[in-house]
Amino acid sequence: KVSIFWFRRDLRIEDNHGLFQALSSDVPVLPLFIFDTNILDRLLSKKDGRVEFIHQALEAINTQIGGHLCVKHGDPLILFRSLFSELEVVKVYTNHDYEKYGLERDAKIKGLAQEKGVKFETFKDQVVFEKDEVLSGAGTPYTVFTPYSRKWKALLQETVLPNFPSATISNYVDDKFNIPSLADIGFQPSGLVFPGLQVQDELIKSYAQDRDFPAKPGTSRLSVHLRFGTLSIRSLVRRALGKSEVWLNELIWRDFYFNILHHFPHISEGHSFRKEYDRMNWRNNEVEFKAWCEGKTGYPIVDAGMRELNATGFMHNRVRMIVASFLVKHLLIDWRWGEAYFAEKLLDFDFAANNGGWQWAAGSGCDAAPYFRVFNPTLQTQKFDQSLAYIKKWVPELQEFTYPAPIVNHEFARGRVLEAYKVALGK
Ligand code: FAD
Repeated sequence: KVSIFWFRRDLRIEDNHGLFQALSSDVPVLPLFIFDTNILDRLLSKKDGRVEFIHQALEAINTQIGGHLCVKHGDPLILFRSLFSELEVVKVYTNHDYEKYGLERDAKIKGLAQEKGVKFETFKDQVVFEKDEVLSGAGTPYTVFTPYSRKWKALLQETVLPNFPSATISNYVDDKFNIPSLADIGFQPSGLVFPGLQVQDELIKSYAQDRDFPAKPGTSRLSVHLRFGTLSIRSLVRRALGKSEVWLNELIWRDFYFNILHHFPHISEGHSFRKEYDRMNWRNNEVEFKAWCEGKTGYPIVDAGMRELNATGFMHNRVRMIVASFLVKHLLIDWRWGEAYFAEKLLDFDFAANNGGWQWAAGSGCDAAPYFRVFNPTLQTQKFDQSLAYIKKWVPELQEFTYPAPIVNHEFARGRVLEAYKVALGK
């Protein structure tokens, strides 16, 4: 008899809720990860850094647990069907997924498990509060961040944030497995450098002053670790408490967008959170979109951000806001195009946060920037990259005459987009 713990976005041994539950039972645990071909086949590049990141995380887990990790490659439904017939599986443990594809996949696996008489149980791990845990007094989901965060903090005071000592139990099956190489699953190294797992207390303490300046190492760079669960959100909340309310708020934003995704699934169907924004008449000029993607708009701060993204798989949050606003408002290109480009390039790509960020920029989201707020890239540069240190790092040719002229005039673009929003929204 075995039970299975199925790793997904929780690629760590420490403080892992579902893993802890599995290991705590008296049945030995087969720890499993599946490189899901339904996801991998959609990736555009065989050098996708996220696949490599996952692969490295799996190797680290396997070393930590003495070689017992079983890694498979294929369609989870087919793979579970054969696992259920090859082994005497009593129960599958896994942590909650909140995305559309994950929910549909889990429903299928659960159905299959039930058919075979196998229990299937999922646990909350990826967020601090989920689903209906943070509701307003009227029992409705929050759509504005500040009252949501107030309630979130009040709830945190009432509960003890659990720590699941999953690393202290080693109730694994005796079998040892070989992890397939990146090449075995059809991928190659990305050449990207992944951020480390550490964040210094000094950084957390000075976060409020430094976080908006992209030239400074002022933010944690932990997003990819939160994305794949190589760090536990609970451990970070514990670190933030008492040190930085501002940093804690960012961790709460993450929960907030998962909460929005859960309660408003229409955002997973390509719709604006505020449906009236779907009446926008976008220009969607493909040449201009390409210039934006390549960092060739003639606006140095926008170009620097896009080049940082293309080169590293990361972009500073302030710059994400600037480039997103620029695409949507200056170029009048549908935010979904930008959302898709970020989804392809960001190592930390997460549907809830990315969709939330894009709809924030477009004005169509919950608690979004108002549609009439059009970031001025020049003023943003003066405020947040005054010495041009960030820009010069990514756009070294700035001094030369070869630097392209702005793709569109700021004042003209501002007038054009305000008019388009007024027409769409009937203002
Ligand atoms: P820190 O500033 O150190 O923050 C700590 C952690 O809090 C982050 O690692 C992240 O997990 C979380 N966080 C911070 N800001 C936000 C936020 N606004 N929304 C949700 N969580 C947040 N973040 C993603 O994780 N994945 C995305 O796909 C993503 N797409 C975005 C798209 C746009 C258009 C915008 C404006 C923002 C997006 N963000 C996304 C949010 C934010 O930019 C990144 O989380 C942040 O830049 C990551 O850097 P860091 O780890 O140094 O963050």
